[in-house]
Order: sequence, then structure tokens, then C-alpha cells
Amino acid sequence: MTASTLTPRPLVRRIPGMAASDGAGVRLTRLLGTPALPEFDPFLMLDRFHSDVPGDYAAGFPDHPHRGFQTVTYMLAGRMRHWDNHGHGGVIGPGGVQWMRAGRGLIHSEMPEQEDGLLSGFQLWLNLPARDKMSEPAYQEFAPEDFPEEARDGGALVRVVAGMSAQGTSGPVQDPATEARMLDVHLPAAARFEEAVPPGHHVMLVPIEGTLMLRNTQGRDQACGPDTLAVLGDGDRVEVMATDAAVRFLLLAAQPLGEPVARAGPFVMNTRDELVQAMRDYQAGQF
Ligand code: FE
Repeated sequence: MTASTLTPRPLVRRIPGMAASDGAGVRLTRLLGTPALPEFDPFLMLDRFHSDVPGDYAAGFPDHPHRGFQTVTYMLAGRMRHWDNHGHGGVIGPGGVQWMRAGRGLIHSEMPEQEDGLLSGFQLWLNLPARDKMSEPAYQEFAPEDFPEEARDGGALVRVVAGMSAQGTSGPVQDPATEARMLDVHLPAAARFEEAVPPGHHVMLVPIEGTLMLRNTQGRDQACGPDTLAVLGDGDRVEVMATDAAVRFLLLAAQPLGEPVARAGPFVMNTRDELVQAMRDYQAGQF
């Protein structure tokens, strides 16, 4: 680390979410994994689903395979039932997280456990290092009461879902390969939030409710509202201001893997040959 990196991380990109449809026709907003930003190592995709119209979500995500990465479902409202072909299943409720390492492969489904009402949450795809791509599938699943909270000076309330916060609070989910950090932050009106993140890690912020104010590389404050992805540049800490209204946002940070990425739909490997092998193994019923 050099002295020049001891600066707040500036806002470098503000990416509007793109309307998309996935699974059997679930309407969602794709924030990462679009032509504007195909990936942000080690993050591969980020979708937000948020609707109280059953036709937007009822079809769900029936049986589909994954290999080579992790899928993270963070529910804000509503319930999602999941099942996989290795016999693992359950329901993720409001505020709960499921951090699934697909590893060498599984077939799973994620279906809304409700016929009406609001369904809201995120799905994040997080890459695995080459050495773990063919590991056995594994889950880290937690309910909202499992997440420690920090009440910061200045009024921020920080729920630590994954990794360790700058103040040393460990969330229940741990991903040692990327040191992934996922914080759900509530910031009151006009308050300020600061979080040290090691230089070199990639950081993105995702407003959930309200608007974030972030300083860009020219020193100007820029507003980022819901359905926008804020990509930060390098530095040693994140600095966020609320406007005159409260704001809630996700902070996602992780150490880049710096490895080649070969991806095709639900398979994310390092080489074309590994992708071809993944398709063969899937078609041969080996997941
Ligand atoms: Fe999936």
C-alpha cells in the first residue's frame, strides 16, 4: 500500500439497471452482468427482483444447473423455496440469506413460496477460484436473527451478512477465497458512513431504498437511487452520505481472483474446454 492509495474510493461508474427476465419468466432488474458491465471480478452477476404483481414472479426458477461459482440469494420480503438434486431444500424467508457454492455442479430450483404479496430480494453470482470450481456443493444459510448488527457513531445501522466489517464484526457467512463482505446498511437522513476496505478489493454499492450521495473522481457529489449500481474506484475506504432522507443500501466488496473467466449461461469456468466438459457432464446426468 502506498500513501497515494490512502484516499476515499471515488464513484467511477453509475450503471442503470436493465430490465430482464430469467428463470421461467421472472421479471427482474439486472444490475451487473449486462453489456454495460459484464462482470466485476469476482462478482459475475447481480439481479434485483421486486414486485407485488404475482405474474412477475410466480413462474419462479424451475430446475436449472450450475457449476463453478456461488449463488447468493438475499431476501428482503417474501419467501422462496429451494430444492436441489442432492436432497437439500428449505425456505428462505424475509431477511434471510442463502449462500450456495455450486462447485462441481448441482441442479436446483428456486420457487416463490407465495401466491401474492411482495417478493423482493437480490441474487448475486460470485466466482470461485480455479482450485474450488470442482469442489463439492455446499450451503451457508442463515436467518435474519443470525446477522450481528453494529450501531455506528453518526447513526448508521450495519447488518453484517458476510465477511468481517471494518470494526471487526464477523458475519455468519464466510468466503475465505475472496474475503467477500456484504453489509446491509441503514443510514438516517443527512448521516455519513465510512467503511475501510483494503485497497485492491473491488467495491460496489446498491441502493435499496432512498438515494446515496457519492463523490466522483472530480470531487463532485452524485446521486445514486434504487435500481442503480454504484461502482467505486480504488482507495482505502468507502464514504457515503445520505441525502435529506434515510437510505438503505448493500455494500459488496471482495478481493478479485485475477483468473480467466469462461462462462456460458449457468456454467462459469476458466477455459472453453472446461465449459465443454461441464455441458457434457450435465448432459450425462453427472451433476
Ligand atoms: Fe440458480
